[in-house]
Amino acid sequence: MDELLSATAALASEYLAGAGARPVARPVTLGEMVAAIDSTLPDEGVDPLDVVRDLARNVDPGLVLTNGGRYFGFVEGGVLPAALAADWLASTWDQNPGFFALSPAAAAVEEICRGWLCDLLGLPDTWSAGFTTGAQLANFAGLAAARHHVLTEAGWDLEKRGLFGAPPVTVVVGRERHATIDRALRFLGIGSDQLAVVDVDDQGRMRADGLRLGGGPTIVCAQAGNVNTGAVDPLASICEQAHAAGAWVHVDGAFGAWAAASPALRHLTDGLEQADSLATDGHKWLNVPYDCGVVLCARPDAHRAAMRLSADYLVRDGERHGSDWTPESSRRARAFAVYAALRSLGRRGVARLVETSCAQARRIAERLPDHIEVLNTVTLNQVLVRIGNDDERTRRAAAAIQRGGATWLGTTTWQGWVAIRISVSDHATDDAALETLVQALAEN
Ligand SMILES: *Cc1c(COP(=O)(O)O)cnc(C)c1O
Repeated sequence: MDELLSATAALASEYLAGAGARPVARPVTLGEMVAAIDSTLPDEGVDPLDVVRDLARNVDPGLVLTNGGRYFGFVEGGVLPAALAADWLASTWDQNPGFFALSPAAAAVEEICRGWLCDLLGLPDTWSAGFTTGAQLANFAGLAAARHHVLTEAGWDLEKRGLFGAPPVTVVVGRERHATIDRALRFLGIGSDQLAVVDVDDQGRMRADGLRLGGGPTIVCAQAGNVNTGAVDPLASICEQAHAAGAWVHVDGAFGAWAAASPALRHLTDGLEQADSLATDGHKWLNVPYDCGVVLCARPDAHRAAMRLSADYLVRDGERHGSDWTPESSRRARAFAVYAALRSLGRRGVARLVETSCAQARRIAERLPDHIEVLNTVTLNQVLVRIGNDDERTRRAAAAIQRGGATWLGTTTWQGWVAIRISVSDHATDDAALETLVQALAEN
């Protein structure tokens, strides 16, 4: 075991030490990758050290360097050293936070992280928290709590009677919501016909003056951090109107909610603390390794009622059962990495991480040559650009940059135009990485 783990640690160190010289991604097909990996299931087992060494060597061409500071695609985040190390231990300890008896340690760390997250995001300490795979399932859990609550208020026992015959639930969403919202609602038995879609402004923010909240069970699903522009919906106004109408407000704040952790940027998320539930990610801006999302809820009773896994042998008062707060039963002890990330950064370090990414995004926008147009107001960590005011040229440039390997950028469609998305969310992004990015864009 000792030899295996030392050799594995050496492989990991080697990978990280070589990150500066690696292409961010290589163009490779699924077929080529499968052919490069030993894909014969052996009749007899192979020595663990050989398994790990072969695996590391053979998968290498297909590894995407999302954590080296030069990756600006999607919203990926990097990995903080303490979080990586704690995540190794989570596997080593093989803890299952589903039930208190399975890991009092994981339960305690989840409880501590719950408090720290409330503190950092400016939420009352009474909010509950569950640690999910990502914002997709955090959105699911938050919206499930919402569905439970608004149907209970309408006198409907959802857990007993299900959705058949229930009063219809209306979900108010912005036109620029994230795709995971629609999927979460689909899982919850809420279809596209039940959506009331609200127009957005030129940054993709829900128009608060466009809210028309009628009677009946209603959930308003707002967004903190548009994936294209980084813009945050006017949360204070949305919460005020929604609550006056008896509606629940869920906020998808996968990355944008982290603005609340910075005294300088907190004003962007004003009103977040008025929401009823919030989904965010650990594996994006907090820079913990995949996977980790967090659902936070102002109404622990609704949260637990929607998620709770009940069996006589499981429930005891005064204990934290992870399965009360997430859709999973058994799962990974994700909070160890969250704890390590937050403790290694400290309150100021978290603020600095967020502020640095935002300052870097502004720097990128300022430094681009004239033929590259910045389409958004850069208030957070997202920069949206278009090259030569030309769809085809923009698409070609992104493809060339992706092939080049120095950096990586994705494309999107914004208000009918093809655009390149730049997301700055890695603690490892430095001046040299910014230079590489600006250079790659300028050359194409
Ligand atoms: C990334 C993202 C999600 C989905 O998060 P996962 O971590 O991929 O599950 C949801 N909403 C927004 C706004 C996002 O940026």
